[in-house]
Amino acid sequence: MTTTGIDFGTTNSVVAQWQVDDVEVLPLDAHNLDADWRRPGFDLMFPSVVGTSSLRRGPLFGWEAKLRSEEAAEACKRLLRNDEYVTIQGRRYAATTVAAGVFTAMKDGAQRNLTDIDRAVITVPANATGAARYRTRAAARFAGIEVQALLNEPTAAAMSYVHDIQEDTQILVFDWGGGTIDVTVLDYEDGFFEERASRGVTELGGLEIDRRLRQLVLERAPARKDWTSAQQRQFRLDVERSKILLSSQPSVRIVTPDEKEVEIFQGELEEAITDLVDRALAPVEACLRDLRMAPLDVDDVLMIGGTSQIPSVRAAVAEALQMGPVPLAVCDPMTAVARGAALASAVLAKETSGVIQVANSHALGTATRDTTGRRRFSEIIPRNSPLPWSERKSYTPTSNYSRKLAVEIWEGDRDKDLSDPDNVQLTELTLTYPQQRVKDESRFDLEYTYDSNGLLHVKATLEYTGEVVIDEEVKSFSTGGPTPEVRKELDDLLNANPAPSPSLMVSTSRARSDIRPQASDAAPSGDARTMVVDGSNLAWIGRSPARPGRYEPDDCPSYAQLLAAREALAGKFPEADIQVVVDATFRHRVAEEERDAVTAALNKGELMQPPPGTEGKGDALVAAIAQECGGMVVTNDNYVEMQDRYPWLREPGRVLGATLAKEAWIFTPRTCVTPRRRN
Ligand code: ADP
Ligand code: MG
Repeated sequence: MTTTGIDFGTTNSVVAQWQVDDVEVLPLDAHNLDADWRRPGFDLMFPSVVGTSSLRRGPLFGWEAKLRSEEAAEACKRLLRNDEYVTIQGRRYAATTVAAGVFTAMKDGAQRNLTDIDRAVITVPANATGAARYRTRAAARFAGIEVQALLNEPTAAAMSYVHDIQEDTQILVFDWGGGTIDVTVLDYEDGFFEERASRGVTELGGLEIDRRLRQLVLERAPARKDWTSAQQRQFRLDVERSKILLSSQPSVRIVTPDEKEVEIFQGELEEAITDLVDRALAPVEACLRDLRMAPLDVDDVLMIGGTSQIPSVRAAVAEALQMGPVPLAVCDPMTAVARGAALASAVLAKETSGVIQVANSHALGTATRDTTGRRRFSEIIPRNSPLPWSERKSYTPTSNYSRKLAVEIWEGDRDKDLSDPDNVQLTELTLTYPQQRVKDESRFDLEYTYDSNGLLHVKATLEYTGEVVIDEEVKSFSTGGPTPEVRKELDDLLNANPAPSPSLMVSTSRARSDIRPQASDAAPSGDARTMVVDGSNLAWIGRSPARPGRYEPDDCPSYAQLLAAREALAGKFPEADIQVVVDATFRHRVAEEERDAVTAALNKGELMQPPPGTEGKGDALVAAIAQECGGMVVTNDNYVEMQDRYPWLREPGRVLGATLAKEAWIFTPRTCVTPRRRN
């Protein structure tokens, strides 16, 4: 069995595994990253998104859903926010089912990495409700993942840090992600973690920063016309990508759907978000105030989450706490949580030494009726009990001569109504009386023993006779496992057919009957068609940092890989005239040992690049050449951004998808359709 940690994030999820003696982060979905999103570390993220495309059977997950879907739902956000249903292609699915789909897609990604996720520690926000925790657990379980424990995100990040430093410390975790900011102060002493205070602000995250950057761009280049939903989506993605680039470079150029180019400088974005950064510091102050701590009482500051990477945010936190955060090389903001969870998984599976003190975040109890007949949560094990923990309470049936009693096992909060979504029934056990007696003689002791793996042992003993009438292990982390209905719903989701929705179909006046998009070996028609290869794109496929989680400066495109693709293409389409285009910067981006060969190929005209003085992107040249000669574009990208300028890209037979699977090149016709307004 594997030992895995899953950071099931609202925006991105990350999976790490304990392998022999260290944690590795898995590049689950690297092959679905578009070239322009290929940044160090992005191959380690799995966007927690479900989307659909009219071109594809079944739902899209991860990068495909984020970058290439027409409709997308951020499933996990909904799940954690208590939203019960998500509509996908006109069908409603329980949020838990959709989250199970995300877990299944991550499991598939692990399998592509030649491993599996069969058992895991999964992280949840420190302030997640009991119901959200329960659903997270259920969703993972539906996906066939055994949940060893749920761990709070800040504790997981702290664990991965403490694993490296091994000393007692007061840690402040500043986690600023896509949707919320969460600040937690933890005490690590003698191998135990205690979450001392946790404060946060919802609706304050990367999305708000994207909005500010979008405003900056639109102030300079106001929209001239109504943008289609595809254009809006593309613009939103471009803005987010540019924001990320601005954390590590002085300026970016953003092109609007009107083809206006705007240059934005790092300082301009920083200025536009100062109030947001100030608001993000409020929970830091609140935590310190709660604990009557001075900034200098904090020993280490961990900055995690994507938004924490903005230089002005790091600077503001450093100023507020009068100390620099733990360096990026020690605490990777994007993977620290998953790494800590993987470590916890290994400790729980006894694959590495260490102590993990798990406490239950919600109380366990049963449901009773008070004298007025109202049902209430009756607490047996209080929240925050260090596990294992055992406790008992005595109960009396409401009527005489009971034969059977239903004993409900609940997780929740005694201060809330039983019907509150925070209270969840885990299961129901039946108590059968050997003899029927009056109610006072039917009293029983209910004893719960909760161990650190989330196993709950329930024992009921009759006080009158000492007979044990219930003695059962409730695998509370996994009860409510997929019922046949849930199983079917998940199967339906994963195998959904795209609804033939007319608004998503594009009518092509010159549909080519000789191209069968479904058949994998469909050849372009004619004998000698021109195939225009997006060389930079192909040279980047699957190129990720050599060591997952480490930022490698030499992460670069491979000319050798591009040549292999060219050869495979020529082998498959011997008649085709193949032209290869690369970006203007390609020669500078390849590894040094390939540079001469690239220069020679450029000189001989075996490679083409955009003329000097134009923007670096080769894809515009690819599309222009293909237009000129009526040829086909060969790429791993979708060319959606080009479709407005080159509408023929939407026609079947004009884009040939290139994928690198286990060292073999696979070419499949691709029609990249984006929804167009119907008049
Ligand atoms: P969550 O915990 O909500 O799943 P993440 O920690 O993955 O979220 O953060 C996602 C957010 O961080 C997104 O808004 C993304 O645009 C942003 N982000 C990622 N990397 C950077 C970066 N280098 N600079 C600024 N923002 C970033
Ligand atoms: Mg997160």
